Amino acid sequence: MRNRRAALAAVASAASLALTLTACGQSGEGGSEEDKNGAGGATIGVAMPTKSSERWIADGANVVKELKSKGYRTKLVYGEDDPDQQVSQIENMITQGVDALIVAAIDNKSLGNVLQQAKDADIPVISYDRLILGTENVDYYASFDNEKVGELQGTYIVDKLGLGDGKKGPFSIELFAGSNDDNNTKYFFQGAMNVLKPYIDKGELVVRSKQTALNQVTTLRWDGGTAQKRMDDLLTSSYRSARVDAVLSPYDGISIGILSALKSDGYGSKAKPMPVVTGQDAEVASVKSIILGEQTQTVYKDLRQLAKVASNMVDAVLNDKKPEVNDTKSYDNGSKVVPAFLLQPVSVDKNNYKQVLVDGGYYTENDLK
Ligand code: BGC
Repeated sequence: MRNRRAALAAVASAASLALTLTACGQSGEGGSEEDKNGAGGATIGVAMPTKSSERWIADGANVVKELKSKGYRTKLVYGEDDPDQQVSQIENMITQGVDALIVAAIDNKSLGNVLQQAKDADIPVISYDRLILGTENVDYYASFDNEKVGELQGTYIVDKLGLGDGKKGPFSIELFAGSNDDNNTKYFFQGAMNVLKPYIDKGELVVRSKQTALNQVTTLRWDGGTAQKRMDDLLTSSYRSARVDAVLSPYDGISIGILSALKSDGYGSKAKPMPVVTGQDAEVASVKSIILGEQTQTVYKDLRQLAKVASNMVDAVLNDKKPEVNDTKSYDNGSKVVPAFLLQPVSVDKNNYKQVLVDGGYYTENDLK
């Protein structure tokens, strides 16, 4: 099988050279159809979780573009946040004979059987952004330092409230976490709590709802509507006679839901200013909201780099080379420690969005108008 892979990769590399020479690389179109513009090399199956969030649409397009620039063909599918649909999509791609898989899981525990099928067909698997759990059949993991994401959110809240500068509050805070079937959720929450918990323990931050355990604050499928409903309930139950000063939100789509609930409750005026609200992904709507002074912060993760890392991993594995990794300890999936390459997230607010996002070429000024 090694030979089969090497042969395929050799075709891909030759095709890549041809592409470079003729400078005719085209970017991927997305969608779930086979991309026939590839240069005749191996085919890589790319399974993304949902199109309901901008980031995953960008991920699909970026990964396809990177793979095509290396001469690979691609099949890109989106699971519409339905774990069963994602399993059957991956099954189909295995049946169709893809040569490697890049998978961003919807439910990190539901892929054991289908990845056994991948293993049996000698198809290597790269876990993309979210670690797949409970199976040995994950070769590499490409992601960001997920605990750092949470630390950036927690630190932002502490700094913005002035707690780091000697203010003692007490300030009130409510906590939100991501989907409980996403392995990243616990890392984000842990990272944030590493920073926030000492202040909660000292009474300088007060969670009036008393909901501080991860299983009390998760948001199934990262759904903004679910978060909005929970924030409505919290405001009704715990903030009739008090104001909330900060909300830990793990993701921009959740922040939008939280902000809607806050606005309906009259927040956003001089008398009742918006609390500090964090986020993640630097999605356009949220960067605009930051510029308007509603959401306060987000965590930017350069998805172009993530796509490069994942594509390089595939390319290395198919060429029987060892992909570059920078973490061989942190990501134990219950069956093995998955070697990982972790990129660095960056905290973004009103003060640095231009420098980070616009000067960095991620968005144009126009995108943010
Ligand atoms: C990703 C985040 C994203 C979230 C919701 C997580 O697994 O790491 O970037 O905000 O999923 O899509």
